[in-house]
Amino acid sequence: MKTKLLLFGAPGAGKGTLAGKILDVVKLAHISTGDLLRENVKKQTPIGLTAKGFMDKGQLVPDEVVIKMIQERLKQPDCKQGFMFDGFPRTVAQAQALDKITKIELILEIQVPFDIIVQRVLGRISCSKCGAVYNTYSNPPKVENVCDKCGSKMEHRADDTEATLKTRFDTYNKNAQPILEYYKGKVAHRIVDGLHTLEMTKDDIKKLMV
Ligand code: AMP
Repeated sequence: MKTKLLLFGAPGAGKGTLAGKILDVVKLAHISTGDLLRENVKKQTPIGLTAKGFMDKGQLVPDEVVIKMIQERLKQPDCKQGFMFDGFPRTVAQAQALDKITKIELILEIQVPFDIIVQRVLGRISCSKCGAVYNTYSNPPKVENVCDKCGSKMEHRADDTEATLKTRFDTYNKNAQPILEYYKGKVAHRIVDGLHTLEMTKDDIKKLMV
């Protein structure tokens, strides 16, 4: 089973959902650069202060900031068993830098039509405490604005707006092909149908990761 994974897909494609499914099967460190950056913004660290302006506009944070963050994250003991990157690399320069640190074994590319992405991103809310993700359209919490799992208040990501979504989606489209091209022939690549990630069974996941 491959244990150094890259989850690839547009914002709202369901990378987080797939990551959750994979975690039910094998214990890998889930490394989401978006989550790491949001944590830094919340704590107002130097990385967070640099990143915030870019994130608010839906633009990519500079490569050197993200690469340094990944280097540090990979030193944590939970990465020894393997890891899955979510939202990284977002540029060829990031992919090249990552190659110097570690070798990816498998790319799982999630594909979803744009109209579904719009609904998913604009409806996305998450728990301010435990991070559980819901959707106001397709998967609302039982009580409005209250997390089913821990009872805390829900929040809406600052960059999940119509204005930034287009920039984020265009940026993804512009960079996705060159990144996949970079890995072509070097790393196994599988496509996942993002309309059905929620229904995937443990066996489906195991087959994907062979
Ligand atoms: P995400 O949660 O993956 O949608 O990321 C949210 C925002 O964080 C993005 O719109 C970027 O501003 C920033 N970001 C996340 N990952 C990266 C990355 N690998 N490179 C540059 N910026 C990133």
